[in-house]
Amino acid sequence: MFLFHLLIFILGTIIGSFLNVVIFRLKTNETILKNRSHCNYCQKKLNWYELIPLISFIIQLGKCRKCKKKISWQYALVELSTGLIFLLIFIFFGQNWQFPYTVYAYFLFLISCFLIIIFVYDLKHYLVADKIIYPAIIFAFLFNIFVWFITNNFYIFISSIIAGFSVGGFFLILVLISKEKWMGKGDILIGVLMGLILGMPMIIVGLVLAFLIGAIVSLILVAFKKKNMKSEIPFGPFLILGTAISIFWGNVLLNWYLKLL
Ligand SMILES: [Zn+2]
Repeated sequence: MFLFHLLIFILGTIIGSFLNVVIFRLKTNETILKNRSHCNYCQKKLNWYELIPLISFIIQLGKCRKCKKKISWQYALVELSTGLIFLLIFIFFGQNWQFPYTVYAYFLFLISCFLIIIFVYDLKHYLVADKIIYPAIIFAFLFNIFVWFITNNFYIFISSIIAGFSVGGFFLILVLISKEKWMGKGDILIGVLMGLILGMPMIIVGLVLAFLIGAIVSLILVAFKKKNMKSEIPFGPFLILGTAISIFWGNVLLNWYLKLL
């Protein structure tokens, strides 16, 4: 089993290095598949051993071997996180080989790729990438229809649709009232996606977590003078963190909270 876990992790880091390329080329509008990976400064093409996720970062000591420019930590972090997230998905949802469960695991593998790209891109550019969020919403919507057909459970389907519409509508109101000061237009789309992924009642857990983590992180940043009260902090990454935590530990948190009451 350990070997299998290691394989899933390595697969995740390989996908992660591909996600890095997508994140970078989304901004430069470079095509994703045509060009070989290269150094962003001196354009040196990368050798095979410079393409191994994580290992290459360590071998090269975080620098390009030709121009000695530093390679951003983002690359290694995204590879590591994707590996860990894939491992988590496998441990939580991949062990049960009965039909609907495996489908859910595959859905999570794919949707996590979308979410990782949106997360990093928003953190870097304070923008939600249109080219990623729209396909992600369509994919999540189609998946819900698919689940409805294979399980014959209309409730699961409608609960996701209602969750998506309510969060989207709620965020739209916040955007309009605050004139985009509290959150941006892109967050509305992330809200819809969250609803489609989590459904009812898990979406509530996801939102509470997002606002809670957002508030704590903002306070820490203000306390350490990294930001002031007026600085913009992108909210998308917190929404995605809330979604991810709810997927894995939402039930545990919900039960724990209900026991408190
Ligand atoms: Zn270079």
